[in-house]
Amino acid sequence: MRGFLAPAALAMNVIDSALFAREQRELSGTLAVSSLTRLHDQLADQSGSVEWELQGGVDKIERPWLSLALKGQLRLVCQRCLKPMDWPFATEALLTQFSDEAKLDEAEEQDEELEGMLVDPALDVEALIEEEVILAVPFAPMHDHCGGTEGATEAGKKPNPFAVLAGLKTRKAE
Ligand SMILES: [Zn+2]
Repeated sequence: MRGFLAPAALAMNVIDSALFAREQRELSGTLAVSSLTRLHDQLADQSGSVEWELQGGVDKIERPWLSLALKGQLRLVCQRCLKPMDWPFATEALLTQFSDEAKLDEAEEQDEELEGMLVDPALDVEALIEEEVILAVPFAPMHDHCGGTEGATEAGKKPNPFAVLAGLKTRKAE
């Protein structure tokens, strides 16, 4: 990937959320972690990408929904030793759409499992992805064993010393 923003990276995915659902559309792509700007404060560095898959559909009682599956890896900062830690993740969210806030609140009260969103005729898919990644990131990420070979989840992978330095610089700047 190039460091400079290529036109493709700037192209926005904007959908009509209700129409997307009714037409049972599907959309997928890969988003560079560097473009998830609201996450940057929590990252040791901006390497990596997030694969995403968005699907639309309508439930039994005619409510449109969006399903968003995400898979990727972030480099978070361990809150115990303040060193970078690889954090692979995979999440899936099912968002039921409502035309107004009152209906959304009512439905969420009746069904604790339900995650609602308001119908959006110009939904920015990348903003939605960013929101879901933020929700998935642990509040206080920590290594299983600090000071050991980094990335217990990825055996054999040595930390990149430059990335470690970048992580330290980020912490100092705060
Ligand atoms: Zn640690």
